[in-house]
Amino acid sequence: MKPPPFDYFRPASVAEAVGLLADHAGEAKILAGGQSLVPLLNFRMLRPGILVDINRLTELDFMREDDDGLRIGALTRHHALEMSPLVRQRFPVLAEAMAHIAHLAVRNRGTIGGSLAHADPAAELPLLAALLDAEIHTSAAAGPRQHDACDFFLGPLTTTLAEDEIVTEIALPVLPPRTGSAFEEFAVRNGDFAIAAAAATVNLANGKVAEARLAVTGVGETPLRLRAIEVGLVGQSLAPDVLAAAADQAREMVEPISDLRASAEYRRHLVGVLTGRVLKAAWTRALDAAA
Ligand SMILES: Cc1cc2nc3c(=O)[nH]c(=O)nc-3n(C[C@H](O)[C@H](O)[C@H](O)COP(=O)(O)OP(=O)(O)OC[C@H]3O[C@@H](n4cnc5c(N)ncnc54)[C@H](O)[C@@H]3O)c2cc1C
Repeated sequence: MKPPPFDYFRPASVAEAVGLLADHAGEAKILAGGQSLVPLLNFRMLRPGILVDINRLTELDFMREDDDGLRIGALTRHHALEMSPLVRQRFPVLAEAMAHIAHLAVRNRGTIGGSLAHADPAAELPLLAALLDAEIHTSAAAGPRQHDACDFFLGPLTTTLAEDEIVTEIALPVLPPRTGSAFEEFAVRNGDFAIAAAAATVNLANGKVAEARLAVTGVGETPLRLRAIEVGLVGQSLAPDVLAAAADQAREMVEPISDLRASAEYRRHLVGVLTGRVLKAAWTRALDAAA
């Protein structure tokens, strides 16, 4: 399969990329890792007149820690996140999840900005962005904007991004001490997109849950934060009966669809199992961190 014809631009700065996107709004697409865009072109599901290749924008390829947390440039590859000592130390759940994205060849090219902008409803990075309360920073001719990850995803392959807007940076607020985290997914084969996935963080105070976060994906049109469960866990010890109740509640809170890969009923079952597992692992790791 070959893509439809397009004009190709390779800007040398974000400002130049923003100018190109503004000049060609509605007909330009950004090319980052190309791991989602190129298949869409080859299947003729997209026919942009112009591709703006951002792979020369080294200013978007960085990871920096400051007092507020970790800032990750949009062009950071999945494999760089997976291998980064900084990510493993500060946000181990992110490194843990990266190993589940496709295969190494795809992870070597795919970028965090591309994955968030693409907004596949079963993708790992949108789930992690929602879990970690990420702020997605963008640039456009109209100026910079910040998007809360939990409001960024509107539906399958749909976000709040304007046509001429480029994701520049993802900011992850620092996780407090005594926090444990975990990620789990179920896919038919290693490297496949998830049928369902879940991720959690648990922060402790005086041996009980001070704050819990729980996000799931593959069971709705966007990643979901299960906030009713999060609130109900505060002040608790995550004993087996509490975990089982949270798993039951998760099953009730989602409205998955049936498709060729799995029935809605099976996805609902999975979400309960994965919720119990990630909460238990995050709790255990938080206890270890507090010891
Ligand atoms: C075989 C295979 C298996 C895969 N399995 C998985 C999987 O299990 N889990 C998973 O999450 N993903 C999977 N992917 C997709 C992969 O993670 C992609 O890398 C990712 O979805 C898109 O990132 P990209 O950098 O390649 O973006 P591209 O393909 O270059 O772009 C994707 C979309 O995002 C837009 N875009 C890119 N960068 C920006 C930016 N900075 N600002 C605004 N818009 C931007 C593009 O215009 C395009 O619309 C798989 C891909 C393949 C080929």
